[in-house]
Amino acid sequence: MSKVVLITGASRGIGRATARLLGARGWTVGVNYRHNEPAADETAAEVGRAGGHARVLRGDVANEADVIAMFDSLENAYGRIDALVNNAGIVAPSMSLADMSAERLAHMFEVNVYGAFLCAREAARRMSKDRGGDGGAIVNVSSAAARLGSPGEYVDYASSKGAIDTMTIGLAKELGPQGVRVNAVRPGLIDTEIHASGGRPERAAVLGVQTPLGRPGSADEVAEAIVWLLSDAASYVTGSILDVSGGR
Ligand code: NAP
Repeated sequence: MSKVVLITGASRGIGRATARLLGARGWTVGVNYRHNEPAADETAAEVGRAGGHARVLRGDVANEADVIAMFDSLENAYGRIDALVNNAGIVAPSMSLADMSAERLAHMFEVNVYGAFLCAREAARRMSKDRGGDGGAIVNVSSAAARLGSPGEYVDYASSKGAIDTMTIGLAKELGPQGVRVNAVRPGLIDTEIHASGGRPERAAVLGVQTPLGRPGSADEVAEAIVWLLSDAASYVTGSILDVSGGR
């Protein structure tokens, strides 16, 4: 039977690459997006072409009702949920903390932290053996920013990812006895559209050359790590935070 995964923020970037790779491994993929439906449809088509099955799910991860509805939709359609990739995330324009508005700070933590916690909670409720689930796996998409701090760029974003690292450590211990493994990846400078949304489309290319590997990474390279952490090949790995950052 095909395993079922929900990938948040799968309409482009790292989420789409992960969806495509899981499709190639025969997974059924819940493709979540917030605004860009045509892009989510394209991800679903790519999953299908790769050999998997996809269901497109609109929803804001920071909205509890949306998150519950997405999990319900997958469970009702396929009778199971085996994995979550907590990938949806935002950045905002570079500036120092002293210049950040309260609205910006609230939105950053709402999407990147609260949203990830809501999704992890739903996964825990449905996958935990004590609650009738069959176990499973969660991969949280953190960032190298969590250990670098991103001074002068976005200390808020970096800190939101620090919360994701801590959640990974705590939840791995909480859910290990429930048959649920919880890990994270910390991408470095990856060539996706997220940098343009922060007002600096050239950021990954310009800073990527300064990394030990001398280039930015690709979404596919991050997807490989996520898919490995979800797979049975990583069956004794939980509470790990894997840097996929070219040595940065
Ligand atoms: P991206 O290309 O900007 O894609 C972001 C995705 O998240 C889109 O599918 C977007 O959907 C979705 N999204 C945003 N807000 C959402 C919300 N409230 N609810 C549901 N979906 C939402 O980003 P990416 O570079 O692939 O990044 C993916 C993850 O990797 C993020 O958590 C990011 O922080 C992390 N990361 C990226 C890098 C990098 O260099 N790219 C480095 C470190 C960590 P719509 O298109 O529908 O809006």
